[in-house]
Amino acid sequence: MDLTVIGTVGIDTVVTPGGDSREGILGGSGVYFAAAAGLYTPTGFVAAVGEDFPPEFHDQIRGLSGVDSTGLEVRKGSKTFRWGGKYLDDMDHRETLFTELNILIEDPPPVPDAYSGAAVVFLANMHPGVQHLMAGRFAKPRLTVADTMDLWIDTARPELEALLKDVDGLVLNFDEAEQFTGAKNTVTAGRRLLEYGPRFVVVKKGEHGAILVHRDGIAALPAYPSEKVVDPTGAGDSFAGGMMGAITAEIATGGEARIDPAGFETLRRAMAHGTVAASFTIEEFSLGRLGSLTREELDARYHEYMHMLRLE
Ligand code: AMP
Repeated sequence: MDLTVIGTVGIDTVVTPGGDSREGILGGSGVYFAAAAGLYTPTGFVAAVGEDFPPEFHDQIRGLSGVDSTGLEVRKGSKTFRWGGKYLDDMDHRETLFTELNILIEDPPPVPDAYSGAAVVFLANMHPGVQHLMAGRFAKPRLTVADTMDLWIDTARPELEALLKDVDGLVLNFDEAEQFTGAKNTVTAGRRLLEYGPRFVVVKKGEHGAILVHRDGIAALPAYPSEKVVDPTGAGDSFAGGMMGAITAEIATGGEARIDPAGFETLRRAMAHGTVAASFTIEEFSLGRLGSLTREELDARYHEYMHMLRLE
């Protein structure tokens, strides 16, 4: 498996400002990532759920295009991670209603042997201590990137700082970059994060796109202008999935010697794919849209987006 993700599988509750809510839907950082990444490249999936995990959710994960879910452990006697979030009127900000870590505070799942030689590893949002431990289970990836969020910045900062020394890149929301660094300016926040060790930081700004702060330069990409925003949950994870999937596909199609997986231009190209993948996620709750998306639909929107970016 060229790309492997380690992340959460969650049972989510989502409340949106229009009053439309869903309780007990499939979510989790690893799920959204894998659903997007699998459209670009074969993706290994490592996560653990409890015995309360609904079989129909398991089937949904198994059915994701390009995703190998043999790394999804179902643990007897354990309970699945649960999370609830409520979106504010702008749909770009949310508050966490509850987080029940459950299985996430137990031992992490094993990494199948077939994944341990992965060229690209994504440590989706999880406790940074677990992310660090899991990163050590891979032989010699060419690219390792992590995501994080407010809960871990609040509760596990030393572990997060230690993780940043050992990853090539970090992907996080602007609010979290500000929370970590104290900087209100995106570029300043990104530069401060680089001082902890990574070669690049991607700061996601929801509807306002994403900024790449790299040791070799700065780049900005707008979000795809979506009119249909039903549930933004998982936008960040599927952005990362599209981005990392596109990089891995470039490496796999003969670019290994030619491209630097953490290079400025590689990342700029890959971020466009992440942007487009995320634009589908938000059109429905859970995997309602992303889970049945075809590569043709993805490519068609990618070309439309590229056209929008072109200046004559
Ligand atoms: P995103 O909207 O991209 O930030 O991702 C939301 C998903 O992350 C939801 O489906 C949640 O199940 C999952 N999630 C929420 N909080 C956490 C957390 N602290 N650690 C890992 N995953 C989380």
